[in-house]
Amino acid sequence: MSGLLSVFLHLLLYQLVAPVTFRHSHYDDLVRTLYKVHNECPYITRVYSIGRSVKGRHLYVLEFSDNPGIHEPLEPEVKYVGNMHGNEVLGRELLLQLSEFLCEEFRNGNQRILRLVEGTRIHILPSMNPDGYEVAAAQGPDISGYLVGRNNANGVDLNRDFPDLNTYIYYNEKYGGPNHHLPLPDNWKSQVEPETRAVIQWIRSFNFVLSANLHGGAVVANYPYDKSLEHRVRGFRRTAYTPTPDDKLFQKLAKVYSYAHGWMHQGWNCGDYFPDGITNGASWYSLSKGMQDFNYLHTNCFEITLELSCDKFPRQEELQREWLGNREALIQFLEQVHQGIKGMVLDENNNNLPKAVISVSGINHDVTSGHHGDYFRLLLPGTYTVTATAPGFDPETVSVTVGPGEPKLVDFHLKRSISQITPTKRVPSAGPGSRVSSKKVQPRAAK
Ligand SMILES: [Zn+2]
Repeated sequence: MSGLLSVFLHLLLYQLVAPVTFRHSHYDDLVRTLYKVHNECPYITRVYSIGRSVKGRHLYVLEFSDNPGIHEPLEPEVKYVGNMHGNEVLGRELLLQLSEFLCEEFRNGNQRILRLVEGTRIHILPSMNPDGYEVAAAQGPDISGYLVGRNNANGVDLNRDFPDLNTYIYYNEKYGGPNHHLPLPDNWKSQVEPETRAVIQWIRSFNFVLSANLHGGAVVANYPYDKSLEHRVRGFRRTAYTPTPDDKLFQKLAKVYSYAHGWMHQGWNCGDYFPDGITNGASWYSLSKGMQDFNYLHTNCFEITLELSCDKFPRQEELQREWLGNREALIQFLEQVHQGIKGMVLDENNNNLPKAVISVSGINHDVTSGHHGDYFRLLLPGTYTVTATAPGFDPETVSVTVGPGEPKLVDFHLKRSISQITPTKRVPSAGPGSRVSSKKVQPRAAK
């Protein structure tokens, strides 16, 4: 009896959730959809807010994981951010569709989605600018002005609102200095908008590895840097290609999206042409204080910017076609977090070493281990010399060959520097001896 009842209820529920709707979602609809997905998939989802917009709307994130709310060591964190420009609305709807899709396919036992959700912690922020969205949506798709609703309620373009770390990295590349995790200015919180502040705090509190920021107004996958190293040449629209030390990897990430997308890879879109449907941000047009460059320069996260539609506010009838054109790409991009190397950084007693620095020779951009001592280093197939360093420990260097498939597991067991344990048995890093030693083994840690 109870078995039959549960089958009946399950069927009824399925009937209720099965019809997929394609429509624009106001803030209330967005919140309802996130909670609906959570109610349908309570064991693999969590809804949380990272802060509020100027007008007090929550910036909600939907998390997918086999253990929501928990970071499991060696399980990478990825994120999608949509609707940063309030009038660029396709990303917002695609991320809501993606959320429903992941939940439904997980429940249907889709092996690929099961594998993805069980091995990855996915965070989805469908709207970073809910205030701007409402302004744009009030105008509607057809009469919406090109820029109406782009900015937040204080009139600030959120993708020009992040601390500019490019200036420092370009200096460091030339004259030496840290090549990753560049510090924020002391007063950064008072210099940015509430939405930007919420996102910065968010990306500092999780060890994100991979990310995409969904925009509209073109169809192309744009990878860092966005800010040009050289000033714009008068009379030329395009500025100088400004690669990161991970340029080849970023090109591949961008191509994975463009080739899995229905038409992005064809290159001709919206009256513009981008070979393979990808572009270096600066070579398209230079942009300062953007979110993409900030992710790369301040955190371990590799972010690209996806321009997904010629129309910033497509008509409702277009949404289904857009979803079908983007669905595979959205999934494949998430799967890209599983490549390169990852592992634990531990001391001799198997204690986790957070904030250990992982350097790959030939790539002037280090990453660090997270709170649990685990690290993730996205890499293309090849053979690499990889070094782990931590203050007070001897560095350890290994040679690793990375294949095209799953990431290679490479753990580091760091030994305390001799000068740290003898002749004094004091707490490390207290005496002058330790300072000399840590300087010798880890030049980059010396600030
Ligand atoms: Zn945009």
